[in-house]
Amino acid sequence: MFAIMEAARLEALHLAQDPVTGLKAIIAIHNTRLGPALGGCRYLAYPDENSAIRDAVRLAQGMSYKAALAGLAQGGGKAVIIRPPNLDNRGALFEAFGRFIETLNGRYITAVDSGTSSADMDCIAQYTSHVTSTTSAGDPSPHTAMGVFAGIRATAQARLGSDDLEGLRVAIQGLGNVGYALAEQLHAAGVELLVSDLDAGRVQLAVEQLGAHPVASEALLGTPCDILAPCGLGGILNAQTVGQLRCSAVAGAANNQLASIEIADEMEARGILYAPDYVINSGGLIYVALKHRGESLPAITAHLSQIDLRLTEIYAHAQADKRSPARVADALAEHLLYGG
Ligand code: NAD
Repeated sequence: MFAIMEAARLEALHLAQDPVTGLKAIIAIHNTRLGPALGGCRYLAYPDENSAIRDAVRLAQGMSYKAALAGLAQGGGKAVIIRPPNLDNRGALFEAFGRFIETLNGRYITAVDSGTSSADMDCIAQYTSHVTSTTSAGDPSPHTAMGVFAGIRATAQARLGSDDLEGLRVAIQGLGNVGYALAEQLHAAGVELLVSDLDAGRVQLAVEQLGAHPVASEALLGTPCDILAPCGLGGILNAQTVGQLRCSAVAGAANNQLASIEIADEMEARGILYAPDYVINSGGLIYVALKHRGESLPAITAHLSQIDLRLTEIYAHAQADKRSPARVADALAEHLLYGG
């Protein structure tokens, strides 16, 4: 266990179980140098307890990097509740999890993630104030989309010489909460949209409402375009897919797009500019973090508008150092988290 923690430079790992509700929960606190750890709570079935712990640790580390480069006074953490095979009372389970969070005295703040909902956060909120994305706090997805849109403009400026998106071809993989809101903004900016989603209904809506061109899911990554915006699942930029790319830049919302950092090097070598995912998609985190602190919407929007500036700065460093923006972003985040 300590080897896993050391490898990820994890500060603390907390476990709790409650036989009454069936709760088996892990809270991984990665780094609190910049502030209390903030990160979502997953509620999923895992093949074994070690896989659940590894997932929490890996994701907590990612949250530290994202919060640091978003300029938030927030550290990185993540929680995993292992979904029991049978559950009597979901509300009671999340209430027990709320009591667990409360024991950490604010060192960890939770939020919605895969398998959890705002209603679950409301149950947690009965026992602790260290919870965001409750039903009253609102959906972060539009803010994520807003940040990605601004990031795409910064990417177009860096790679194509202008932030005017009119007439550009942008391929979007995934038209969910973030992808569809992004498609609407790109359409309003005069972009030609190429879209795919596993849900044919989402594609049909984009065709009808935004004049988008549908592309088969398996063909999207290889579709010639100016910018590819992955907004579905992670891990899509890997050894099998990187050679297929026919774009000038990749800039999208999906978390953990790179199967490994070497894939970013390969894109760099091919002249494809890569917007580090945790920088361009940080709008949702900025929204939940600042909302939790009671900031006003204009203040949140002002903070969101730093995303494109941060990307522009990363691109300038990357160009000067002849390195991938992914490596530059990691180095900047590590400097903020560990000094040196
Ligand atoms: P979502 O579940 O609402 O939408 C994802 C969409 O992608 C779905 O419509 C799904 O059918 C589609 N999809 C999945 N795999 C696909 C594939 N191979 N080809 C085409 N379509 C595919 O999720 P979301 O909230 O819109 O988030 C999208 C991505 O952005 C995720 O990776 C998420 O982790 C990341 N993200 C989201 C937020 C947020 O605020 N929601 C913040 C940061 C990062």
